[in-house]
Amino acid sequence: MPLLTPYIASRSSEQPVREAELTIEFTPKGPRLAYRHPRPGDRDHHGNLWVRMDESTGGRVMYDCMHVHRQRACMGNLLCQVCGEPSDRNEQGWLFLDWRRPDSPPAWPEKSITSMPPLCAEHARVSVLQCPFLRRADHAVLRVRKPQLYGVSGTVYRLTATGWHTSENDVLSPYAAPRLPGMLASRLHRQLRGVTVVELP
Ligand SMILES: [Zn+2]
Repeated sequence: MPLLTPYIASRSSEQPVREAELTIEFTPKGPRLAYRHPRPGDRDHHGNLWVRMDESTGGRVMYDCMHVHRQRACMGNLLCQVCGEPSDRNEQGWLFLDWRRPDSPPAWPEKSITSMPPLCAEHARVSVLQCPFLRRADHAVLRVRKPQLYGVSGTVYRLTATGWHTSENDVLSPYAAPRLPGMLASRLHRQLRGVTVVELP
């Protein structure tokens, strides 16, 4: 079977934001990360600043790297991460694949927090066959009744006398917690609630 090009995979020609485009903005609530030249849509409803990223059809497909805007669109609108069409849904909920991570909740897969968008039935089958990571990991096919929008993750920036310093790893920022003023968001997360473990459709 030929390898599919997942809709959410990024391409080598799609470059993320450069630090020279970032600045500090002073607001009544305190300083926050901003773009030097703001554009509509830079921030989400919660005020999180999002990575700007080119959209291009050239270059190599980077299978292990999700495109920021396509991940956000798929997760936000519950679209299949492989084809970008509506994901599969029945009376038990939307179709997700998930795997146990070191920080997974004890009730996993219930309440699992994930940045992997759902799938249509065909691409759930293909993903289980083709994704080496899913073959290795303790994964489950899930129906999720309430995949609730949970928050964003990304790099947290801090401006110091020697320039920008960034968090080493991605930081998760739940909507329920105060917004991080230095956040440059690159992933949208949902929490999987009302989960049923099922067979591949
Ligand atoms: Zn699909």
